Amino acid sequence: MKLGHVMANLLSLTQQLQQLYRKVFPIPCLLCGLVTEGQALCESCIAELPVIQQCCIHCAIPIEQGQICGQCLKKPPIQDSSLSLYRYEQAVPRMMSALKYHRQIQLADICAREFIAYHSLATPPDVLLPIPLHPSRLRQRGYNQSLLFTDTLAQLLKIPCRPELLKRVKKTATQTQLNAKQRHKNMRQAFKYDSSFVPEHVAIIDDVMTSGATTHEAARVLKRAGVETIEVWTIARAISHY
Ligand SMILES: [Zn+2]
Ligand SMILES: [Zn+2]
Repeated sequence: MKLGHVMANLLSLTQQLQQLYRKVFPIPCLLCGLVTEGQALCESCIAELPVIQQCCIHCAIPIEQGQICGQCLKKPPIQDSSLSLYRYEQAVPRMMSALKYHRQIQLADICAREFIAYHSLATPPDVLLPIPLHPSRLRQRGYNQSLLFTDTLAQLLKIPCRPELLKRVKKTATQTQLNAKQRHKNMRQAFKYDSSFVPEHVAIIDDVMTSGATTHEAARVLKRAGVETIEVWTIARAISHY
């Protein structure tokens, strides 16, 4: 038998084994519990997630009309533009918590695929920069959910992911209980740009944008390093403003 045939047989055997495995150990959808096609969410739950249809170009907050929200008209954020996939409501908070705290890392792939399906990028950034975790938090959690999301985006978009450029140098307090002002204070001096290579156009990537304090601080450090154009991409956008 020729090598090509052997490889083709092996491939089909692998596929059959995968199908068998999924039948014996089906993956239940994280949200509705029904058996999925081998991924963390079923297609109908994905289709029901609250996609942001229209949002402020600067801060990605959902708005009914126009391009810029009232807050950004008064004082625009440091980043030039922002994109987010879902409103942080309905099943999204549960999903984000599963991704962040319960090792449901496959959700990062689904979100990256959906993000690209909903956003066409006129001018793609030169590099993608995930918001880093402090090394001690990374050790504790074992993975950075924003890096997982960024890695899949990078593969699908064929844009380099460069997590080493931005470092987390301050161990910040958990932001959940803090108001917007306290969050900004908490994040001050949290990041350091750590390279002599400065790309022109960067997308900073995080899981959830709430007050915008984290991405604001990262954007401030990048502008100071000389980055010209900064976008902020997130999976979900909380409706409370910064
Ligand atoms: Zn489902
Ligand atoms: Zn805005």
